[in-house]
Amino acid sequence: MTDYLKSTDPGYDAERSGYNLAVEHKPEVVVPAASVADVVAAVRYATAHGLGVAVQATGHGPSRPADGQLLITTGRMDGIAIDPVARTARIEAGVRGGALVRAAAEHGLAPVNGSSPEVGAVSYHLGGGLGILGRSLGWAVDHVRAIELVTADGELRRVTADTEPELFWALRGGGKGTFGVVTALEIDLHPVARLYGGGMHFAADTAERALTTWADWTRTVPEAMSSSVLLIRMPDLPFLPDELRGRYVVHVRFAYTGSAVEGERLVRPFRELGPITDTVAEMPYAAVGTIHAEPTTPVPFHARNAVLRSLDAQAVAELLRHAGPDAGAPYLVELRHLGGALSRPGAVPSALARRDGEFVLYAGAAAEPAQVPALQAAFERLFSALAPWGTGGVCVNFLSGPDVTAAQLATGYLPGDADRLAAVKRAVDPGDVFRTHHGRA
Ligand SMILES: Cc1cc2nc3c(=O)[nH]c(=O)nc-3n(C[C@H](O)[C@H](O)[C@H](O)COP(=O)(O)OP(=O)(O)OC[C@H]3O[C@@H](n4cnc5c(N)ncnc54)[C@H](O)[C@@H]3O)c2cc1C
Repeated sequence: MTDYLKSTDPGYDAERSGYNLAVEHKPEVVVPAASVADVVAAVRYATAHGLGVAVQATGHGPSRPADGQLLITTGRMDGIAIDPVARTARIEAGVRGGALVRAAAEHGLAPVNGSSPEVGAVSYHLGGGLGILGRSLGWAVDHVRAIELVTADGELRRVTADTEPELFWALRGGGKGTFGVVTALEIDLHPVARLYGGGMHFAADTAERALTTWADWTRTVPEAMSSSVLLIRMPDLPFLPDELRGRYVVHVRFAYTGSAVEGERLVRPFRELGPITDTVAEMPYAAVGTIHAEPTTPVPFHARNAVLRSLDAQAVAELLRHAGPDAGAPYLVELRHLGGALSRPGAVPSALARRDGEFVLYAGAAAEPAQVPALQAAFERLFSALAPWGTGGVCVNFLSGPDVTAAQLATGYLPGDADRLAAVKRAVDPGDVFRTHHGRA
């Protein structure tokens, strides 16, 4: 039997903490689960003691603290089994995106992974999964074949489109942590062994041209090209090269599954602008995590996002007014290009059915509690200014941190699906055991 850690036990603090320090879990008990049996026992213990149950894999996406509850941590459940013939993977609850990419790459295969190798693969899929090859492969949630789940009654179920279609629909995109503890997923893999990808940094004096070029260029590129843009003032850190250290830059990232020759042709308009760094090249798929190269040190992070239907010259001007080189914005901004397979329905319907829009606009920053009101006011100015280009929707998976509201989350779904999700919740967790989940008001 695994440990049941109370606040006075050594190991409690290390076990409850995760990447995003803005949500601090103070559970009554933490259960470091190493097996399905541990998860079953923990859920039964919680219900016998009247405790709610929350789950944490890495802490990259918490939205509510699990205070006074039982927190199951899944990092030790890190098994990955690849079936290279069927092109599937079975991944346990604690597997991170990078480990999955590496395991699949040994067979010349790739999952629909996101940008960060550190993020938990299970919750990433449950939240939709906007992949780095999203435009060609679609949402990760459409590539989930089976879900192994421990529900509030302490039973392990294998949920598929055939066995429990309504629960399968809800689990895919309809609320991370809402319906039970997912102990494993079975997912599709894809025959992608290499790509033409990387990033180019542009200096502040080229920021406007880089962003305008990208906005226009996205209207012309094939589905095999996925890309994103980051607007950021880089931190003043000694290990950064001089051209980046403490400087405002625009980072354009590319992930193209076509040939290197064609890829070079496609990115030429950016090379002609004179980037200050350029890592765009042929690469093995296993190196995909280097494209965004997101920081890995835990921070108290706050973020907001909105889906945009277009990015015309006026939208670019608004964006630069709020987050350009001279704006002094207290946050970074990222734009991800949607469209392609991301705008089409999956083969099996899921709760992640709202798929309109061409871009995700995301803003985020690390902030101490005293800085949060000013940061939120700055977010509000940015998102109000860009609202005329918005669809009114959000990217569900990018909603995390303490500021997420149920109203924001609701805009990620089709009208009417909230009632359907609530009905599934009542059927599978009538006592609201899983009460600390994504987007809880
Ligand atoms: C740096 C960074 C990069 C990102 N890049 C992308 C990206 O490219 N594409 C994208 O779509 N998203 C991306 N995200 C968002 C990320 O996919 C979500 O926040 C995801 O939920 C994080 O999962 P986690 O397990 O790492 O985090 P955790 O905080 O451990 O989990 C988040 C929530 O998921 C639920 N949960 C976790 N494990 C289970 C389980 N086994 N069963 C049931 N519920 C569970 C819990 O409610 C938990 O609060 C990124 C986030 C960060 C911080």
